[in-house]
Amino acid sequence: MTDDITLRLDRATAEDLYVALYESGEHIAAGAAIHEPSTDEVKRLGKLLQDLGHRLGRTCSPYCDQLI
Ligand SMILES: [Zn+2]
Repeated sequence: MTDDITLRLDRATAEDLYVALYESGEHIAAGAAIHEPSTDEVKRLGKLLQDLGHRLGRTCSPYCDQLI
């Protein structure tokens, strides 16, 4: 039995994730600036983080009922 998880991303969320990881890496490695995300980016990445957390068995808030 595998312990893998699967997330399906739309293109906009995948692009946001790529940029967030790339900028984080450059920031850690060389102090590069991280751009301020747009409202839409924040919404997409917030939803991705919530979905990923649920798949990992984490609750996203004290009121989360996604793990039942
Ligand atoms: Zn939740």
